[in-house]
Amino acid sequence: MRAKRIQDGLRGMSDLADIPDESNGRVFISHASGDRALADQLVSALEELRVPCWVAPRDVIPGEEYPVALAKAIDECEVFLILFSTAADSSTQVSNEIERAASRSKPILLVRIDETDPGSNSRTGFFLTRHHWFDATKGNFEDHLPTIASAARQAVERHRSLQTGPSAEERSDDHLGEKASRKTPSAHRSIGVEIGATKVRACVLDLEISDDSALHDIPMYFEALEGTINARTIIKQVEKLVAKVMEEHFKDTMPVGLGVAAPGQIDMRAGTLKFGPNLFHARNIPFKTSLSSSFPGVPVRVDNEVRCHTRCELHFGVGNDFDSFACISVGTGVGSGMVIDRQVYFGHNFCAGEIGHMKIASSGSPCSCGQIGCLESFIKAQAIVDRAVAKGVEWETRGLKTLLTDLEGDLTPEAIVAAIEEGDDAAQEIANDAAIYFGLGIANYLNLFNPAAVVISGGVMSGFFFPMIDQITDTVQRNALAEVNNTPIVQSGHPIDGIVIGAALLFHPDDVWPV
Ligand SMILES: [Zn+2]
Repeated sequence: MRAKRIQDGLRGMSDLADIPDESNGRVFISHASGDRALADQLVSALEELRVPCWVAPRDVIPGEEYPVALAKAIDECEVFLILFSTAADSSTQVSNEIERAASRSKPILLVRIDETDPGSNSRTGFFLTRHHWFDATKGNFEDHLPTIASAARQAVERHRSLQTGPSAEERSDDHLGEKASRKTPSAHRSIGVEIGATKVRACVLDLEISDDSALHDIPMYFEALEGTINARTIIKQVEKLVAKVMEEHFKDTMPVGLGVAAPGQIDMRAGTLKFGPNLFHARNIPFKTSLSSSFPGVPVRVDNEVRCHTRCELHFGVGNDFDSFACISVGTGVGSGMVIDRQVYFGHNFCAGEIGHMKIASSGSPCSCGQIGCLESFIKAQAIVDRAVAKGVEWETRGLKTLLTDLEGDLTPEAIVAAIEEGDDAAQEIANDAAIYFGLGIANYLNLFNPAAVVISGGVMSGFFFPMIDQITDTVQRNALAEVNNTPIVQSGHPIDGIVIGAALLFHPDDVWPV
């Protein structure tokens, strides 16, 4: 009876050609284990329509690791279809599947099978509300199958024609609105965007300028992040800011591109922030997909924030003197960028330069990455403040006076630097301790990469550079190989705007973009 109803619903579509099943399947069916019976019905309906499906557990090869099999299948599928229910909404496995599909820019079809709101989940709602969805909560589920199966088939065909058509950037041009298509591209002006934990910034940069002094006059914009900060609010604020920049600077032309600097590990192919431990532990924010759809015709590139700062140093800083150098940033987190022969080095998986997670101890507080002994857990802003609080208590119990206890409650890196400037010995000890750890990290870096110079940037080091540099230099000289231990260590000349300018430089004509 069920099969007959589906066949009736699909009648007239039976002359459709088969969609070749070249990989694991064309439509990935995501579902919570409790919704398996409905998932099986959906698979039957789709396969009646000659649309091959991949569904677990049916298609997991015996012996294959479950999460690996699911991830591989999502990457190979052309459309991601989710049966959305209360059970699916609360399943970590289903959340991971949604995020992976979104980060791979897969079309997402959502079939709602109970009253749960697809937009209410702070982790995945953003991806789901931006995609097509069907309400299968009313009536018999089987009655909805022909519509869903037909839509899935169309989505597969549409996606396949795009895959064999023009490149991604050319596709973006295909979608130009009428207003945008009348604009001519600007060959040399780009937009840079910096994603911070509390605000987003943007700038417009003329890529033909080479004089540092011209940077003082470039247009800068800010937007505070307010309320609940999640993928949805961040993307909304970025879109708002870029819309303002476009309105004011690109009325009659198009920017050569829009560069985004984000804190954390980046999938540069997908243009996604894969993991931002210092940005509400964000996972898989699809900056490129979202911004490309909001600003059709504008190419979008996304990179790690410290690598963007490194790019600013390459074009407007130490790059004037050195063809190979390292840029290390210490702030909320710790990261680095590496320039080799005037090109930024990305690494096999775009994760090069994570000096913050270089292991320099076998104990200590847990790092934001979840491990122990990372350099970041000893020298990031919060680590320095925590040690200053403990140092204040220690001095007080020994009957010694220090400004650190007077400041308790308002202790910030800036306040500790101010105490050092007042001649406070306890505060200077905090700087010396952090400088030893930082010096060890730099010594390891020099031994491994042998850069011609190291440039130091980031919020913490703009104040701590001078209080720390003697101890850093001493530690480096005692721990790095003799051939590299005199490498110049200099302060960044762009402590405030280096990241956002570097984001705009993602479109510099002299730089190779790796994807
Ligand atoms: Zn770590």
